[in-house]
Amino acid sequence: MIYFTPGPTQLYPSIKKHIQAAVKDDIPSLSHRSDKFYKTVKDTCQSLRRLLKIPATYEIYFLASGTEAMERLIQNCAGDRTAHFVNGAFSKRFYQIAKDLKKSPELYEANVGEAWDFPSISLPKNTEILCFTHNETSGGTAIPLEEIYTFAGRFPDALVALDVVSSAPYVTLDFTNLDCVFFSSQKGFGLPAGLGVLIVSPRALAKAQKLKNEGFNVGSYHQFETLSKHAKKFQTIETPNVLNIYLLNAVLHDMLDVGIQTIRKRTEQKAAYLYDFFDKHPTLHPFVQDKNYRSKTVIVIATPKGSSAILSKLKGQGFTVGSGYGELKDKQIRIANFPGHTMADIKRLVACISKIQP
Ligand SMILES: *Cc1c(COP(=O)(O)O)cnc(C)c1O
Repeated sequence: MIYFTPGPTQLYPSIKKHIQAAVKDDIPSLSHRSDKFYKTVKDTCQSLRRLLKIPATYEIYFLASGTEAMERLIQNCAGDRTAHFVNGAFSKRFYQIAKDLKKSPELYEANVGEAWDFPSISLPKNTEILCFTHNETSGGTAIPLEEIYTFAGRFPDALVALDVVSSAPYVTLDFTNLDCVFFSSQKGFGLPAGLGVLIVSPRALAKAQKLKNEGFNVGSYHQFETLSKHAKKFQTIETPNVLNIYLLNAVLHDMLDVGIQTIRKRTEQKAAYLYDFFDKHPTLHPFVQDKNYRSKTVIVIATPKGSSAILSKLKGQGFTVGSGYGELKDKQIRIANFPGHTMADIKRLVACISKIQP
């Protein structure tokens, strides 16, 4: 079976080998207070910095999930006012977390599958953090980062948070425009679920310290101050997902060997192949109309005659594809295009879909 689901997804091809090596080397029994563990964390951080070009001044925190990263960064970077750009279920969750934390989130909503006219948007003066979802996994949109940088540039006092859960490591980031960036293990990196990674700027860290000093509730064990103290020593506060950190490091090394430019080029070639096929298909068509906003990593296809028959036929041929998200469950299929998916897999999937009666 090949999993084209947008997370959890097909494991990165080398993962099975790395899991065997980890078990042989007793990694799951390794103490998180051992030098060997600190070395693994240090190496993981170095590899991640190389792959994603993360500045040395930014810190890397290991959390439990992408969703945890949303909660932690809102707790630590906003006393009250957050702004959210919502065009699907994951950006909505980000907004809801701010509400649940009793902040005053401002909501800028676009239809699922569409984006915003940023130049026409103005924000309340004292907005503390802008929260963007680069790649909305539910609707298959990706916002060109230049649009975000230009918009955020108008509000130099606000921090910028970016969810890249389903676009990393494909997405090219310019960290000088970003303060909190996060992803989790089970999407583009093709790892088992259960590890979130949050990258934090000095500015965001200073804001967290200021809020803490002013008596705000910035959370308990995973507040930025404690995360930072531990991260400086390549340690973690709690017993973390040691196996997944080890596996992330192994995959990062593999990806560095392939080269990030090659990974990006292949992702674009595979996305172009898929969009080209569905643009020409008699009944199935890409859900996102505006080509500028089509995601390269999660391809969402509208299925006017329902998705369940297509999904079960594909399953019979050895392909698990994602259904539509939430209310659109039966109206769409979602195809992940992550680095672990090869062009050969994509071509076999497309050949299979082309044989299904429309
Ligand atoms: C999957 C996903 C999340 C949630 O990540 P978890 O690790 O499951 O918490 C958040 N944002 C986006 C865009 C996602 O695709």
